[in-house]
Amino acid sequence: MTIEYDVAIVGLGAMGSAAAAFLAARGARVLGIETHFPAHALSSSHGDSRLIRLGYFEDPSYVPLLQRAYQNWRAWEAALRTDLLFVAGVLQIGKADSKIVSGTEASCKLHGLPYERLDKTETERRFPAFKLDEGEVAVLDPQGGYLKPEAAVMGALKIAAAHGAELHFGERVTALEPDARGVSIVSSTARYRARKIIVATGAWVADLVPALRPYAMPIRQVVAWYQPQDGFVAQVGRMPCFLRDEGNGGSYFGFPALGADGVKIGRHAHFMEPIDPEKPNPPVNEKDRALLDDFAVRRLLGVASHRVRETTCRYTMLPSEDFLIDFLPGHDNVVISSACSGHGFKFMSVVGEILADLALIGETQLPRSLFSFHRHFGA
Ligand SMILES: Cc1cc2nc3c(=O)[nH]c(=O)nc-3n(C[C@H](O)[C@H](O)[C@H](O)COP(=O)(O)OP(=O)(O)OC[C@H]3O[C@@H](n4cnc5c(N)ncnc54)[C@H](O)[C@@H]3O)c2cc1C
Repeated sequence: MTIEYDVAIVGLGAMGSAAAAFLAARGARVLGIETHFPAHALSSSHGDSRLIRLGYFEDPSYVPLLQRAYQNWRAWEAALRTDLLFVAGVLQIGKADSKIVSGTEASCKLHGLPYERLDKTETERRFPAFKLDEGEVAVLDPQGGYLKPEAAVMGALKIAAAHGAELHFGERVTALEPDARGVSIVSSTARYRARKIIVATGAWVADLVPALRPYAMPIRQVVAWYQPQDGFVAQVGRMPCFLRDEGNGGSYFGFPALGADGVKIGRHAHFMEPIDPEKPNPPVNEKDRALLDDFAVRRLLGVASHRVRETTCRYTMLPSEDFLIDFLPGHDNVVISSACSGHGFKFMSVVGEILADLALIGETQLPRSLFSFHRHFGA
C-alpha cells in the first residue's frame, strides 16, 4: 500500500529543513527528500556563519518577518538546548547616502528599532578593526549578529525527526506529477504520494520548476578567512559583524574571528558568475583571491593580512533580489521556496513557518506580498 504523506519536501537545506520542523511539530505526516546530506558543500547553507540584522536596508517591509524570525530562532534554541543566534552587533559602513547606510537608518526609524550612527573618528575609536574614508559613516545595529548555518539546518532536522518526519538522504527527486488530488513524487529509488509538495531545492529549483529557469540564476560566491595580526581587535565584542558599501565596487560582508580560522569576508554576489548547479563549483582562483585580499588590506586594520582558508558557495539570484515563496500558478498543491538572492538564511526560521502555513492551510498571517509569483513575474 502506498503511504500518502500530508506534505513532501524536496531539498533539506535551510528552507526545506525549516519547513519540515514546523510541519512535523504541527502533527503533519511529513516526508523530506535530499540528494546529498544536510548543509553540504554544494548547497547555499555551509561556511560557519551567516549575518542576521533587524534594520533591513533592502526594504523595511522585511522587518516584521525578521522580528518573527528572531522569536522562532530563540524558540528553536530552547527546544534544542543549544545556541544558534549570537548577538554581536552589525556595523553598516558607507557614505551617508549609500543604500546600506540610508536604508538601514530608514528601516530602524520606521520600525522604532535601536541604532547608533557613528562618524569616522568614533567608529575607528570604538572598533579599531575598521578603516573608514573621510566622509564615511557607520550605523550600528546592536541587535544584529550571526547564525551558525550547519547547526541550524541540523537542528531543524532534529526537531522534524523528533516529531516523526521521515527524512531520506542520498535520494534525488527526478520528477513531480501534480494532479487534482495531490502530487506523485518520483525519486532515484522510489515513487511517493503526498497531498502537498514543497520544492525547496535552492540552486536546483529550475530542474523541477522549469518555468523559473530564465529567472532563478545560480551564481558562484567566494569567501575567505584571514588570520588577525592582533587577535584582540578581531574578537567578538571589539569587532562587530559588518556590511560595507564600496560604491561601484559593490558591497562586502564579514565577521569577527569566530574560531581559529579568523575573520571571514566576502563580496556580495562576488563577480556575478552564473554556474551550472549540476557541476562542482569552479575552485577559488587568483582573481578571487586578489579581490578579497585587497579588501582585507585596505579596509581591515591589522586584522586580516594572512589568508588561511577559502571556499566557494552558491547564491540563487532572482531579478528583484527578493525571495519567491508561493504556490506554483495553477497548482495549489505545489509550494515553491526560492529564498536566497544571497540574503535568505536569517529568514530560515520564519520561511519554514510560512511554507508550513501555505502547505497546511493554504495561506499565512505572516506578510509575504514581496514574495509572490505575481510580484516577480506578473503571473
Ligand atoms: C557565501 C554565502 C554567504 C551568505 N551569507 C548570508 C548571510 O550572511 N545572511 C543571510 O541571511 N543569508 C546569506 N546567504 C544566503 C543563504 O545562505 C541562502 O539564502 C540559504 O542558504 C538558501 O537556502 P535554501 O534552502 O534555499 O538552499 P540550500 O540550503 O542550498 O538547500 C537546497 C537543497 O536542495 C537539495 N536538492 C536540490 N535538488 C534536489 C532534488 N532534485 N532532490 C532532492 N534534493 C534536492 C540540495 O542538495 C540542497 O541541499 C549566503 C549565501 C552564501 C552562499
